[in-house]
Amino acid sequence: MNAPMTTNIPFYEAAGNEVEVFEQAWKNRLPLIIKGPTGVGKTRFVAHMAARLGLPLYTVACHDDLTAADLVGRHLLGDGQTVWCDGPLTRAVREGGICYLDEVVEARRDTTVVIHPLADDRRVLPIERTGELLHAPDNFMLVMSYNPGYQNFLKGLKPSTRQRFISLRFEFPSAAREESILLGEAACDPMLAKQLVSIAARLRSLKDVDLEEVVSTRLLVYAAKLVKVGLDPIEACRSALVESLTDDADVADALLEVVRATF
Ligand code: ADP
Repeated sequence: MNAPMTTNIPFYEAAGNEVEVFEQAWKNRLPLIIKGPTGVGKTRFVAHMAARLGLPLYTVACHDDLTAADLVGRHLLGDGQTVWCDGPLTRAVREGGICYLDEVVEARRDTTVVIHPLADDRRVLPIERTGELLHAPDNFMLVMSYNPGYQNFLKGLKPSTRQRFISLRFEFPSAAREESILLGEAACDPMLAKQLVSIAARLRSLKDVDLEEVVSTRLLVYAAKLVKVGLDPIEACRSALVESLTDDADVADALLEVVRATF
C-alpha cells in the first residue's frame, strides 16, 4: 500500500517517531490511540497524517451523549419517507479513510459495540438497522484520543478496548520544539517565542496555585498571534493565557506576576 502524495499538509512539528508509528499502523491496518493533555497537538497530528497519506478524515468530537447511532448513522425522515443516513464512522469505512474519535472516553459505553469489531482483526462494522456488515478496506484506519488527566473511575477506557489499539503518548513539548511550533503557527518573532515558552515553563511548574489544567501550546499560539498583530504582550498573555486558565482573581494575579516578570 503506497501513500498518495498531497500538497497542503497542515503544519505539524514532530516530537519523535510518531509520524513513522502512525504510517506503519496505517500500513498494517492497526488502530491507534493517542493520549495526552489538551492542546498538545493530537488533533493537528491526525490532520497532518491524513493529508500526508492522502486520506479523507472524519473527526468526531465525542461528548457524554454520543451514542453508537451518532457514529454509525440513522434513518431520517424526508419527503414522507425514511432514508438511511451514514454517520461519520460508516462513511470512513465505506470510503476508506481515517475516523478520528476525539476525547473518546466521553462517549457512551454502547459505542464500544461498534468500535470493538472494527478495532481487531475482523475489521467489520455491523449496521444493525440496515442489516449490513461492512468490511473495512485497507485504507480505513480508526484513531482515538483521550486525556488521561480527565479520567475518573467510571470514565476510563476499558482494558478490552485499550488492548485492541497501539498507543502513543503525547506530552508537553520541549522548549525548543514549542518555540518551533510558535514560529510555524504564528510566524512570530523568535524572541517572543522564547519569552512565551519560558513563561509557559514557569506557569507549568507553579506548585502552590490551584489550576485544573496547566497552560497548553494552543494557548501560547493564541498569545503569539495577539502580540503579532500589535497587542501589548502582557495584555495578550492576560487574555490568551491567564483568563483562559482560571476564574479565580487571586490565582489570575499570581499567574500575571509570572508574565510581568518576563515582559
Ligand atoms: P489536542 O488535540 O491535543 O487538544 P490540537 O492538535 O488541537 O490539540 O493543538 C492545538 C493547537 O496547538 C493547534 O491548533 C496548533 O496551533 C498547536 N500545536 C500544538 N502542538 C503542535 C505541533 N506539534 N505542531 C503544530 N502545531 C501544534
